[in-house]
Amino acid sequence: LTILGLESSCDDTGAAVVRAGPGGAPEILSSVVRGQTTLHSAFGGVVPEIAARAHAERLDLCVEEALRRAGLGLSDMDAIAVTAGPGLIGGVLSGVMCAKGLAAATGKPLVGVNHLAGHALTPRLTDGLDFPYLILLASGGHCQFLAVRGVDDFTRLGGTIDDAPGEAFDKTAKLLALPQPGGPAVEAEAEKGDGKRFAFPRPLMDRPGCDMSFSGLKTALLRARDSLIAEQGGITVQDRADLCASFQAAVRDVLAGKARRAISAAPEGLSALAVAGGVAANRSIRAALQEVADEAALPFVAPPLSLCTDNAAMIAWAGLERFRAGQQDDMTLAARPRWPLDQTSPALVGAGR
Ligand code: ATP
Ligand code: FE
Repeated sequence: LTILGLESSCDDTGAAVVRAGPGGAPEILSSVVRGQTTLHSAFGGVVPEIAARAHAERLDLCVEEALRRAGLGLSDMDAIAVTAGPGLIGGVLSGVMCAKGLAAATGKPLVGVNHLAGHALTPRLTDGLDFPYLILLASGGHCQFLAVRGVDDFTRLGGTIDDAPGEAFDKTAKLLALPQPGGPAVEAEAEKGDGKRFAFPRPLMDRPGCDMSFSGLKTALLRARDSLIAEQGGITVQDRADLCASFQAAVRDVLAGKARRAISAAPEGLSALAVAGGVAANRSIRAALQEVADEAALPFVAPPLSLCTDNAAMIAWAGLERFRAGQQDDMTLAARPRWPLDQTSPALVGAGR
């Protein structure tokens, strides 16, 4: 099977071609991602209208390029997969309209994909994981533990009740005058700092369950920064590194501690602990999760970063998995701003939730 996938739910426009033969390992024939950072940088965040227009302008070009790089034409595709939510509705609509157009023009089947399912199924594309496995999605917009039992069978074991961890890294960078995106900048500082200097909270660790909270950490960091400024008139380079290291240690401890709980709450027979999302790029967080997996005698799977962050290869792959399982959509496929993963079928649609 050869599937074209489209992604446009946030600020990356993507198109990709993924192929899987019977039995053989799947292959990413092409994956094109065009970011929009420069379009939004002046506004301090993604502007939905600008994003939607940029997606509409670029989707065609991305599709053309993905097909060209794969050396294939539309007629070689077995189906067209597209992110149908959750995400910024204008962007999701742009993608769904584009995919419907391609499907109508070629007579190919249309497959709607949940963006989060795309992230959650990526370890099957990269590492051929068997169901069930546990995955932590940790990005700028999401944070949740999912037990993945099937193409269409996800159980959310817990997640953040406020900010996502990537968002916390970004806000920390902002408070310390470091560049955006904050994750890599804070990580680089943390490597030079003392993670034990500031005792930042590990929220919800004393409570059962896998829910997490990261917004209090930002307040604690702000308070520590301001008391340094009050005492010394400013913060030194070493103070900043120590603040970053202590912040990162807190995020790491929460993610690792809750991962340990998620493993015990997950179904029997897990094949692995996996991660996805931009935060999975963090070496210290990865190492801590690796340790948790080792303790539980599970393999630890972290897909390459380009497949952990938003991309269309994961959408093509999730579409391929759905299509192979006999699922597809028709022209009534709706774009959904909200779409919890434990309700996977786009047939359940409506105007979102
Ligand atoms: P989503 O995919 O959930 O819609 P997103 O597009 O913000 O959200 P990603 O592209 O997966 O998410 O990840 C970006 C986030 O990952 C940013 O918040 C960034 O700061 C964070 N991040 C990237 N690298 C690192 C790192 N080394 N350490 C910690 N966080 C990181
Ligand atoms: Fe994403």
